[in-house]
Amino acid sequence: MREIKNLREMYLYSLKAKSHGKKVGFVPTMGALHEGHLSLIVEAKKKCDLVIVSIFVNPIQFAPSEDFGSYPRNVGKDKKLLKNFAIDALFLPSADKMFPDGFKTFVEVEALSKKMCGRSRPTHFRGVATVVTKLFNIVNPDLAFFGEKDYQQQLIIKQLAADLNLPVEVVTLPTVREFDGLAMSSRNTKLNPKERKSAAILYKALSLARREIEGGEHDLNKLLFRLRSLIGSEPSVRLDYLVAADPKTLQEVKKIGGKVLFALAAYLGKTRLIDNIVVGE
Ligand code: AMP
Repeated sequence: MREIKNLREMYLYSLKAKSHGKKVGFVPTMGALHEGHLSLIVEAKKKCDLVIVSIFVNPIQFAPSEDFGSYPRNVGKDKKLLKNFAIDALFLPSADKMFPDGFKTFVEVEALSKKMCGRSRPTHFRGVATVVTKLFNIVNPDLAFFGEKDYQQQLIIKQLAADLNLPVEVVTLPTVREFDGLAMSSRNTKLNPKERKSAAILYKALSLARREIEGGEHDLNKLLFRLRSLIGSEPSVRLDYLVAADPKTLQEVKKIGGKVLFALAAYLGKTRLIDNIVVGE
């Protein structure tokens, strides 16, 4: 596994591989790797000749009040994990090379970025879209792999790749979960034992939505009320939002029919977690 910190070296490494006809797969992460990340790497290895993983905790997607400073970081452990997966390169850019003084250009994906997480994190997706565009320009992958856990993020990245004619295929893979259904997340390590136990209620609520709809429930307001009550029954969980939305536009829906995205964000103590499922045909 080649470790690359320099942006130009990364660019040239990928360019060389492509000039030899290799299909380059890219898995961008913020590190503190878990099985969710690893599932993306496994798929990238299946679909590509060369796999590049990046670890970069992107400062511009965190608001000043958010957890950039305390975001879980353990690059040493991540490197050991990655060695078992025989990836080709690990890209570890530094924040001052990615965003040097005088950096002025941002990528904003309208509409999608304002909904759901965008309401409580108004500058988050512009930070994500900007860093992903930069990473795509540096790594120049044929395929890039993202998790459905961050549903809104993968949709925004697909939109930006299409709108900006980026020559990359964005692949989305299913959410990997813990034994009790909690979506794997680097932030789960920040939960204390009580919070960790309570966090299972989030997927329980999403699963209830699926069961009720498959069982013929048609009243969306009643269903959302039940889900919110269920989550509310865990005193250590504070719901940020829970919506039923169109999976393509993220526009909230008024009734059940076709495919519906149930998405939520909740705080356990200071830790904010997100999850979602898509229900229906
Ligand atoms: P992060 O390091 O949290 O920014 O995530 C890097 C990539 O891994 C993103 O595409 C995430 O959507 C994906 N990811 C994170 N958690 C999971 C999970 N539990 N299952 C599948 N993919 C995930």
